[in-house]
Amino acid sequence: MRNIEKKIARLKKRKNAIILAHYYQTGDIIDVADMVGDSYGLSKKAKENDADIIVFCGVRFMAESAKILSPQKKVLLPAAAAGCPMADMVKPDDILSLRKQYPNAGVVCYVNSTYEVKAECDVCVTSSNAVKVVASLPQKQIIFVPDQNLARYVAQQLPDKEIIPYCGFCIVHHQVSGADVDKARASLPNAQLLVHPECTQEVVDKADFVGSTAGIIKRATQSDNKEFIIGTEMGILHVLQKKNPDKKFYLLSTKLLCSNMKKTKILDVYEALKYGQHEIILDEDIAARAKKSLDKMLELS
Ligand code: SF4
Repeated sequence: MRNIEKKIARLKKRKNAIILAHYYQTGDIIDVADMVGDSYGLSKKAKENDADIIVFCGVRFMAESAKILSPQKKVLLPAAAAGCPMADMVKPDDILSLRKQYPNAGVVCYVNSTYEVKAECDVCVTSSNAVKVVASLPQKQIIFVPDQNLARYVAQQLPDKEIIPYCGFCIVHHQVSGADVDKARASLPNAQLLVHPECTQEVVDKADFVGSTAGIIKRATQSDNKEFIIGTEMGILHVLQKKNPDKKFYLLSTKLLCSNMKKTKILDVYEALKYGQHEIILDEDIAARAKKSLDKMLELS
């Protein structure tokens, strides 16, 4: 263990803190985390632990969700500038106009959204539970924000629902093309292709499996296949390889790198713990309304 990792471990114990890290973080961050997961697993963990401080290694909307679910805890985002461009593509006013346009529709937001947007929606979803949560809603018509690709994927799984997609997208997954898949398949003919539903239709159509990051890890771990092409952010490869040392994992495209997820450095984690920076402070009324969307998700999934 390096010196900085020892210091982090000592500070964590002294301050009764835990470190939560998204699968897309770098390997050194993942190795100091108490829990590594996708948005769904981490939001549950944020609620269910008895730490006084949560150091959230991910992007801002994730740390906001942790704060909303555990308002009595101090939630720190080590890299203050780590945001999610997709989350910023939709604003609360967009939800209000969509509600006017479709007064009978339920309003669902992907967890990759700001807490101000969550406050205007009926329920949140993650890529792990989107199909299940949307299926359980009473409305036939569903406004789905912000990710157009996840919206389309949910619509295809639930033909009885009328999904009204928003035009947002993940700037990382959306740029991977069918041609990238053909190239990877040609060089690795025995590999299975596992992709995230934030990918476009032409990529999803060519995949052997479509699922959340947790779903991809589970599928690769349980499969008898030995080679996999992975169609989601490259950070997941560290976890896949650690869990499956006898298998080989290849990234579908070098475009699958989220610069925001890579903003957190190990020194930021140490400084967050040492100085209590950068604390997530939310407007209480808006956070209380956003909590209803997150609580409903946890209840329905
Ligand atoms: S991978 Fe995409 S959705 Fe996730 S944080 Fe980066 S830009 Fe946002």
